[in-house]
Amino acid sequence: MTDQFDDDFRPREQLRAQLMARIASEGAMPVSTFMAEALFDPMAGYYATKDPLGADKDFITSPEISQMFGEFIGLWAAECWGQMGAPHPVQLAELGPGTGRMMSDALRAGAAAPGFVEAIELSLVEASPALKMVQGQTLAKAPVQPRWIRLIDDMPPGPSLIVSNEFLDCLPIRQAVKVDGQWRERLVGLAPKDAEKFAFVLGGGLSDADLALVAPSLRDEPDGSLVELRPADAPVMDALAERLKAAPGYALFIDYGSATPEPGDTLQAIAKHQKVDPLDDPGGADLTAWVDFERFAELGAAAGLDVYGPVGQGDFLKGLGIETRAASLAKGRGDDVAARLQRQLNRLVAPDDMGELFKVIAFASQGLPPPPGLDRYKPR
Ligand code: SAH
Repeated sequence: MTDQFDDDFRPREQLRAQLMARIASEGAMPVSTFMAEALFDPMAGYYATKDPLGADKDFITSPEISQMFGEFIGLWAAECWGQMGAPHPVQLAELGPGTGRMMSDALRAGAAAPGFVEAIELSLVEASPALKMVQGQTLAKAPVQPRWIRLIDDMPPGPSLIVSNEFLDCLPIRQAVKVDGQWRERLVGLAPKDAEKFAFVLGGGLSDADLALVAPSLRDEPDGSLVELRPADAPVMDALAERLKAAPGYALFIDYGSATPEPGDTLQAIAKHQKVDPLDDPGGADLTAWVDFERFAELGAAAGLDVYGPVGQGDFLKGLGIETRAASLAKGRGDDVAARLQRQLNRLVAPDDMGELFKVIAFASQGLPPPPGLDRYKPR
């Protein structure tokens, strides 16, 4: 690279070199370490340095597809707030807010509930300095100004509402493969024939503690099977449960993944809306993995929270009235607008688009009424 103004490529070469040096000296690393470095290395990490979200960027998420998505999150939060007895103040937090679009739409819609927006103290849990700046710009004219924090634990105490979209899928995962009846970790090492390339290599057997992170229903899968371990889920749930037990609150997670544990490799890299090799260019592509909703629900229930769902994103949004909202937004506008809204609606709710693969799960302090959109489901 000769262009001295190109700050996009060279830090990534450095990150690559650092990771290779580390593997050369310490040995192959867990997928989770590779994922964490690729996403959050301060100089070259994918989220640490870029705003990847949008039609012209690397990938697009529900809040970027349609304003209706964030609006319904806002209405959901406002209704939960009412069900909690309208506490003032209420701590509202979003985990991994991306561009801030969802929160901006949510606050606008939440203003329909008298007193709600005035009661909000807003925290954004964000690891990326680049995205914090984008969020600040998006929310510059919002009725509530955010504070940025690193962890749920950093939220001020009190009644709370926590929302998130596509946060859990970026938490680093580990992988294991069954060989000769034993689960062995799948690590990231160097390719045997090309030391300039990363490759998956087989590590040692999983310890009992590691094995506890594998869904019980998957432990007896046959040789050759691959399973994923999600070591970062439990700390998130611990922090959440601590809050929701100390003071009333609801938390909403929307993400993609399976309703029940399934074997298989779900680590995925996306750049410019295309799937790419996850090991090819650390820092240059988004790395995510499917959420295991069953396990996440179990963690919540074990921590003493009421758990609702998971339910498909389509059912959730339709239950909240998104079809009526799309029709009312289209009313009196041209055919173009109506067609655009219909396309947005379809993307969000159609079963063959984001309506089923994307799922919604909510957690509540014990004894609170069921959250809207999930009230047909019994708490577990
Ligand atoms: N919710 C947004 C963005 C999804 S991308 C949307 O739906 O469009 C994932 C977001 O989570 C990014 O903002 C990323 O920087 C943030 N993130 C990922 N892991 C994180 C972590 N461990 N702590 C805080 N933020 C994290």
